[in-house]
Amino acid sequence: MNIRCRKINCKFNHNGTCHAHEVWVCRGANCETYQKDEDKTNIELASELSPTRPNNVPLRCTASNCLYNRSCHCGANGIAVVDNEDTNRADCATFIER
Ligand code: SF4
Repeated sequence: MNIRCRKINCKFNHNGTCHAHEVWVCRGANCETYQKDEDKTNIELASELSPTRPNNVPLRCTASNCLYNRSCHCGANGIAVVDNEDTNRADCATFIER
């Protein structure tokens, strides 16, 4: 699964793409794999200055009320994860409630 992610202070985030070995998205459609890296800032480089590498991250998702979810598998072509500053969580922005 190609995962674009704006939770840039996560230890698995490299220039806006996720490079975790596996990502778990929970029932509330937020990333459970997120781990804050204390050495990272919240400043994102311009995409022209930070070319992204393709990623193919195994994804498990238990948001069973999502349109794309079939038996804990995500059927989307890729997902976008955003930084929810209110909750400090990493939310799946591709989630569509069925
Ligand atoms: S918050 Fe989740 S999707 Fe984003 S880089 Fe970290 S592990 Fe990957």
